[in-house]
Amino acid sequence: MKTVVQDLGEFRGNHLYMKRDDLLPFSFGGNKARKAVLFFQEVDEGGYDSVVTYGSGSSNHCRIVANMCAARNISCHVIAPLEASEPTFNSQLINMFGAETTTVPVAEVHDTIEAKLEELRQAGKKPYFIYGGGHGNIGTEAYVRCYREIREWEREEGIHLDYIFFASGTGTTHAGLVCGQMLAGEQNSREIIGISISRPNPKGRNKVLASIKDYMGDRATDEEIEAATVFLDDYRAGGYAKSSPEIVATVDYVLKNYGIPLDETYTGKAFTGMDKYLAEKGIQKKNVLFIHTGGTPLFFDGLKKRESAE
Ligand SMILES: *Cc1c(COP(=O)(O)O)cnc(C)c1O
Repeated sequence: MKTVVQDLGEFRGNHLYMKRDDLLPFSFGGNKARKAVLFFQEVDEGGYDSVVTYGSGSSNHCRIVANMCAARNISCHVIAPLEASEPTFNSQLINMFGAETTTVPVAEVHDTIEAKLEELRQAGKKPYFIYGGGHGNIGTEAYVRCYREIREWEREEGIHLDYIFFASGTGTTHAGLVCGQMLAGEQNSREIIGISISRPNPKGRNKVLASIKDYMGDRATDEEIEAATVFLDDYRAGGYAKSSPEIVATVDYVLKNYGIPLDETYTGKAFTGMDKYLAEKGIQKKNVLFIHTGGTPLFFDGLKKRESAE
């Protein structure tokens, strides 16, 4: 599962590296692919014959889960909130993989999941349930392992990373990296900074803290966990999937200069936040890692949106 760390050279007075989790080798990669590999180990080992999950029509998680189900020839059932169901490249792919999507108002998502699981059991099936976004300890574990990969890379290259930035949503990517850092006893070695792409504080940070506590159990105190968790809500641009001219400019810049596609919902927003944070804090001469968490189909949604805006 090891992904490449690309040296992007000097960036605003710092040295920038990018870990290309968008290049994970399944269904356009991304952090949901890293998590899904572990979920599907359970599916395979437990003899499950169907999967139920939830997410919006633009969900990278649902795309990968639907693709993994199709590759195993098991059925995939996606419960989607009506409020975010406009067609996207991800929703087209989810349909192409033969997933059954049930669209209901967001308030009915929970009951609809329960009903779907019951319906499948009644039909003699053995369904496996995955939380939206691959949330939970299995998702966290995927990024504990990613943190180990980063440490290995540092050892091999003789480079110390001072900062790690990434897009933080449901919080398991963030939680995994922080747990990895605590388990390695490296709390003071570097700052791990999640850029919120959706939730404001305190709600957003609390969700990350809850995931870390759940995974660590009694291996860390609340004080240690609080001290290690930096979740910035200053760069949300108004909330989930909201963009800004600055984010669009970032997507252009990164594609033109490095040939790397970002999207406006996740990675472009987080990269913009990182850029501003480095400038605002006057951070210079540091080694900075940005984790590219994927979402490549959303890059193309962005292109299409521009075309129709012209
Ligand atoms: C889901 C997602 C995130 C956020 O990951 P979480 O583990 O939910 O915080 C970031 N980037 C991309 C591209 C995603 O699809």
